[in-house]
Amino acid sequence: MSSPHPVHVIDLTHPLVPGKVPAWPGHPCYNASLNSSLAKGQPANVHALTIGTHTGTHLDAPYHFFMDGVTVDRLDLTLLTAAPAVVADVRHRGAHERITWEDLSAAAMEVRRREARVLLLCTGWSRHWGQPNYSDHPWLDAEAAHRVLDLGVRVIGLDTLSPDELTPEKEGADVHRIVLGSGGVIVENLARLDTLVDSGWKSVVVSLLPLALEGCDGSPLRAVAWEGAQ
Ligand SMILES: [Zn+2]
Repeated sequence: MSSPHPVHVIDLTHPLVPGKVPAWPGHPCYNASLNSSLAKGQPANVHALTIGTHTGTHLDAPYHFFMDGVTVDRLDLTLLTAAPAVVADVRHRGAHERITWEDLSAAAMEVRRREARVLLLCTGWSRHWGQPNYSDHPWLDAEAAHRVLDLGVRVIGLDTLSPDELTPEKEGADVHRIVLGSGGVIVENLARLDTLVDSGWKSVVVSLLPLALEGCDGSPLRAVAWEGAQ
């Protein structure tokens, strides 16, 4: 008998491995250590975690940049659960290059057609995860971010550390302010968006569910995608 749920799921999440998770300067470094250990004769294996709200594949809630913004535990889960998503292929943009509105024109048409609320930008930069050049990613133009929101998009996800320009001289935050300031959500450090683009799927559906961390500004999440019907 075949499985009642023959859904092929693509995991869009980077694994969390101690010592191998790029962290924003000043943010907590991820660690997991056994607090209780079967190998030491204790009744069960239990890990203790050191983790930040922006560790690994994670979501930024409006409260990240705005005192009166929505916290991660109070986000509208209908936006983040089995949500139709459009993936924009912007892999032609290289290190520190700007992703323009023109780069998103095909995706914008698809967003309108499917009335999608989730737009994922595939830069291909996840291949540099854990490498020194991971922070040299392309970044989204602020005007393009405004226009994406005007389409009705509420969630912008990327396979980079940030949607904003990041150089040794400049730590941009324009797109963070625009998206979070409109009550939207940003998902960062996604993995395998290139696999999604190359999947040939008719359409993409995603779940991007954060932990219910009361009063917090963001949360690590498990991001998954599967093929939609149309
Ligand atoms: Zn973040």
